Amino acid sequence: MLPRYWRAFNKWIRRASVGSALLTGRRPHYNDPSSMKRASLHTLGCRVNQAETALLESRLRRNGYEVVEFGKPTDLLVVNTCSVTEEAERTCRYVIRRTLRHSPEAYIAVTGCYAQTGLHELRTIPGVDLIVGNQFKSDLPSLLPSAGQLRKRSRADLFHSPTIDREDFSHADYADPGSTRALVKIQDGCNVMCSFCLIPFARGRERSRVLEDVLKEAEFLAAKGYRELVLTGVNLGQYHHDGRDLSALINCLEQVPGLSRIRISSIEPTTVTDELLSYMASSTKLCPYLHIPLQSGDDGILSAMHRPYRVKDYVSLIDRACAAVPGLGVGTDLMVGFPGESDEAFSKTLRLVETLPFSYFHVFPYSPRPGTAAQKLKDQVPVSVARNRAKQLSELSNRKRMAFAEQFIGRTLPVLFENTVVEGFRIGITPNYLRVAAPAYSAEVNQEHTVRICGASDRWAVGMIAQPQTRASGKVPVA
Ligand code: SF4
Repeated sequence: MLPRYWRAFNKWIRRASVGSALLTGRRPHYNDPSSMKRASLHTLGCRVNQAETALLESRLRRNGYEVVEFGKPTDLLVVNTCSVTEEAERTCRYVIRRTLRHSPEAYIAVTGCYAQTGLHELRTIPGVDLIVGNQFKSDLPSLLPSAGQLRKRSRADLFHSPTIDREDFSHADYADPGSTRALVKIQDGCNVMCSFCLIPFARGRERSRVLEDVLKEAEFLAAKGYRELVLTGVNLGQYHHDGRDLSALINCLEQVPGLSRIRISSIEPTTVTDELLSYMASSTKLCPYLHIPLQSGDDGILSAMHRPYRVKDYVSLIDRACAAVPGLGVGTDLMVGFPGESDEAFSKTLRLVETLPFSYFHVFPYSPRPGTAAQKLKDQVPVSVARNRAKQLSELSNRKRMAFAEQFIGRTLPVLFENTVVEGFRIGITPNYLRVAAPAYSAEVNQEHTVRICGASDRWAVGMIAQPQTRASGKVPVA
């Protein structure tokens, strides 16, 4: 932490009763069974938030909390919020109300992007006891009162800074995410300033995690038995630490014994380099999968969104990626109802995404965010029109998902199975991000099986285990 923040931080926590234990070194009564408290965590928004919640959860466990499923009675609720859409803010309010209904004495701590950008509104929500902005998010477990002192407050305590550090960062400890695939945050912040987006305000400027620290976490996770790492960040492709970029980081991660797969989560189109594509094509562990946000298929809308590419650049990237990487799975994000999106502009998006080889899309109706450039734009699109457009794209996404699954019928694929069981089927993921359902009795959690695909739906492909267990590999065999 930079000295100026540290000074401000110290000043705040000396004033706030919740910080006194942190400063005085007084040990709270954690690990005392008589005072063991329950904690519940709820995450809204992106994978970066999910990775950060996993870290908070691990720290709370280490501090002696019993972590209970969200929705169960609890003594502490931590909400890791998002402010990308209005919907996320509404959900945050709902999550708090719902918890207070079954646990009226629960201590409510709110952190994340809404805590950073919606402080004023958040302070008006009844029942919130602690608000922690993004600058102090990772310190949240230390900012809580001791477990025996979790009491509702008449006014929320506050740890918030209007600006956020620009330094590269490390983590003091690592999460044990508790699922097959481990999310690893390697980057934070964004400099792009898309006109609809609050993230640069909520998370600050781009910065990267110290490479050696990422490797240490990867070794920790591999030793715990995790097979797949999912690299997350707000603008992941901008990873740079000490002259080493994303490809260099992945190259180092490949040397970590025990890891089978490395996956890149959402990556901005302007940061997918030819070097990364050829690396993906030749790597035995980097999954042939890219999720590249497009947002719109109309140049006028892309320009109004301040997206730093045009449709032809995007199409050229997808062509190069598919040519370079055999069996590549490609997903995207689309935004509908952006101000000025005419029927014609929307039709262009619809036609474009129909022709591009996507295996699915995530569709987001635009919602104006206070303080963004887009909020001031004229020609706001009626909500009903945006909803209708979202519905059309979601239906097309379902058809794409099914077509993607169908092309693998009759082939065998490596599938890493997860904890999830639905209707008697265990769900797993292939390297190119095809969801596969196989009879639960035959598929072991956290094992990679060779699966023969025999059916497809718009949710997943269905398959039978062809061999009990195979050597893990990040590649999809090409027919
Ligand atoms: S690239 Fe654009 S949409 Fe993505 S985080 Fe940065 S500003 Fe937001």
